[in-house]
Parts: sequence; C-alpha cells; structure tokens
Amino acid sequence: MKADLMPKPLLIENGTVLTLGKTSKVLPGYSVLIVDGLVAKVAPKAAIRNFRGKRIDATGKVVLPGFINAHTHFYSSFARGLTKAKPSRDFNAVLKNLWWRLDSALTTEDCYASALVALLGSIRHGTTTLIDHHASPKAVPGSLLAIERAVRQTGLRACLCYELSDRDGARIAGEGLAENAGFIRRCQQQGDSQVKALFGLHASFTLSAATLERASAIGRELRTGFHIHVAEAQSDQDWTLRHCGRRVVDRLKQFEILGARSIAAHCIHVNRREMDLLAGTKTAVVHNPQSNMNNAVGVANVIELVQRGALVGLGTDAMTTNMLEELRVALWGQHLRSENPSVGFRETTSALLAGNPKIAERIFGLRLGEIAEGGAGDIAIFDYDSPTPLESGNVLGHLVFGISQTEADTTIVGGRVLMENRKLALDLDEARINARARELAAALWKRI
Ligand SMILES: [Zn+2]
Repeated sequence: MKADLMPKPLLIENGTVLTLGKTSKVLPGYSVLIVDGLVAKVAPKAAIRNFRGKRIDATGKVVLPGFINAHTHFYSSFARGLTKAKPSRDFNAVLKNLWWRLDSALTTEDCYASALVALLGSIRHGTTTLIDHHASPKAVPGSLLAIERAVRQTGLRACLCYELSDRDGARIAGEGLAENAGFIRRCQQQGDSQVKALFGLHASFTLSAATLERASAIGRELRTGFHIHVAEAQSDQDWTLRHCGRRVVDRLKQFEILGARSIAAHCIHVNRREMDLLAGTKTAVVHNPQSNMNNAVGVANVIELVQRGALVGLGTDAMTTNMLEELRVALWGQHLRSENPSVGFRETTSALLAGNPKIAERIFGLRLGEIAEGGAGDIAIFDYDSPTPLESGNVLGHLVFGISQTEADTTIVGGRVLMENRKLALDLDEARINARARELAAALWKRI
C-alpha cells in the first residue's frame, strides 16, 4: 500500500480477543493496535496509552483474525435464483447444463459486477482474503483486470486466475494463456499485498497435453503456482486414464503443475498414492464440502489426506461467503463419511484456521489467520456475548457451534475498516451495486 493510502492507526478495545493461530489464546479485555496495516500490539487495555487514531469499541464482541476462502468463483454470484438449468444426472451434466452456459454468457461488466456481489458478501461474513478461479470464455481479455478493480474497491485481499481450458477451442485457450500470463506479470510488477495471481487451469479432462505444456512453461518462467480442479468427480479420473494412460495427479506431476505454490481444489477421487504425491510436492489441497455434496460427487477424505501429510485448506466453491458455515458442513461431512461422530474435528477446523493461512501466506507473503504482533491487520469482529465459558481450550467449539450462528459486525483489512457495526464503510453504494447486478443477471439469464 502506498504511504498516502495507509489508514490511520486503529485501536480495537474492550472485546474478547481470540488470537487463533499456533498459540491460540482467548484474551478478554485485550486491545489490538494496528499501525501501517500490521498488528503492532496485543495487550491489556491499560498497557496502551496516549493513543491517537481511530478507536473501535468491541464490548460484548469477539475479535478474530479475518477468515480466508481458499477456493471460490466470484462469477457464480449470478447463478443465484437461476431456474433455467435442466436437471442434471451427474457432474459433467451440471457443468454443461449450468456452469458452462452461464460462464459463456458473461461479459466483462458481468465479471466486475458479480465479483462485487461476492466481495461485499465476504465483508458481511468477516472473510478478508479470497482465492478466486475465474471463467468467462466469451470475454477473456481484461476479465481479471475488471475483477481486480472490484477487489480494490472493496479493500479485500484476493488472488485471481483465469480458468484455462480447451473446451472452447484453440483461440479461447490462447486468450486464457495470455490472460493468466499478463495478469501474473502485472501483479508481480505491482508487488502489493492486496491483489495476487496464480496460473488458472480448469481441470485435467478439459486440457490437452499441448495446452498443459504451454501453461507449464509459462508458469515456470514466471515462477508462479497453479490453481486447478483435481478429481472433483470420478469422470476426471476416467477421462484422464482413458486419454492419457495415467491418473490425474500423476498427469499434473508430469507437467510440473504440482508444488508448494499450487492449489489442487477438491481431490475427492484421488487414491493413496496420489495423496502421497500431493503431500510430497507440498501442493495445497482445498476441500469444498458444500459444493461437493450439492453436486453429489462425494466427500473428500480429509482425515486421510491430513494423515498422509497433505496441506489441506477450505474453500466454498462459491456456495457461500461464510467460512464458518462451510466449516460446519466440512465437519458433518467427515462424520457422515466415516460413520463416526467423533472424527474429523481437528482436521476440518485446522483446514480453515491453519491450512488456509498457510496457503494464503505463500501467496500474499504476509502472516495471516492469527492476531499476533507483526501479522496482517485483518480482523473480523463478531457480535458474540458468549452464554457459556469461552476459554483457550474450547475456542473451536465456540466457532463451530456459536460464533457461526452470529453476524459479523465489523470487518477490517490491513487496518482499513471496510464495515463497522454492520454498515459498509466503503465508497460504494451497496443498493446501487445490487440493482445493477440484478439488471445484468437478468440480461445474462436471457442470453443463456
Ligand atoms: Zn471450483
């Protein structure tokens, strides 16, 4: 952030601070001081004197690090209420009947407006960092710039990519390659900690060897990671085995797509060897349980992925902007999958609270997901006057069963207040944004 754009020092006081992070602590009555975008001090109220700047009173509230969404699609905002899709028998039919018809009808303004809707929803739920995966095959060039504009207007952090695919032919695949490469270069030149890029790939079953080879070469040259859907349905494995003679994760390894900078979303239909490959290459696996259940593609084996050493994070795949809602479903999903109500709590809570910060830190180069001195000043304040004891040992239970049921009150990124007392503190008119989005979505639905 440029010095003149840097927000004034900010002091959050009188709340109960839930630091989360490695040394997760509950600190009632502590203050959090944010200076130059970073947490400068976490201390008892009396220890911070002579403060000049903006104060936020968090009486009766909990103060948490902002949440991270490690896989989403902003453009999906325009599918809300769409009734035109035919019933689909399986996942490939869902793509053909719904998503590929929708994304093929998107204009550049749709990309911008749908992103704004998703970003404002994220602010409302205390989600402060998002990793997006974008597709608009009939409006590829400039689509990431349009989304970047929305991200900067909302003040959130986001990592963007364009979903490269061969499904629309060679010309559009070429545009996808160029859109990724251009936007990655732009982010590298800008070098700020708000907007970042990865190289986006749709999925193995829509990518030819030639296209993967080109993407891989550009990715290596730009020293960037990839963001791709992996074995979301068994059909991805079936196609890859049939056409390439190997399994999906092996194929990605062959093209040097895996690695510590890369994200493999879903990973439901991977075998143990593929899990070991993901873990061994330090590739981040992002679990999206609500989307997977909605598409009836299965539930990823998060417990075994973690046991085998994979870094697992949590995304919403655009089903919600509320990370605590997604966390709850992740937990129920592991219970149901294992037919055991006592497993998966550590693995699912860690996916959101440890996995996502680690994934985002690799991209943004900031300490995230923890209220700690030197960490990013990204904060979510929830209205939660706990009716039962809230202590360092039971924070996770309060998140899953209590805080998830309350509303985010205030959302802060890098010390900049984006929402305060549930009112947006941005130079944006939410009602006008929604009105324009309704017009655009109606026109889009007509084109489908
Ligand atoms: Zn996805």
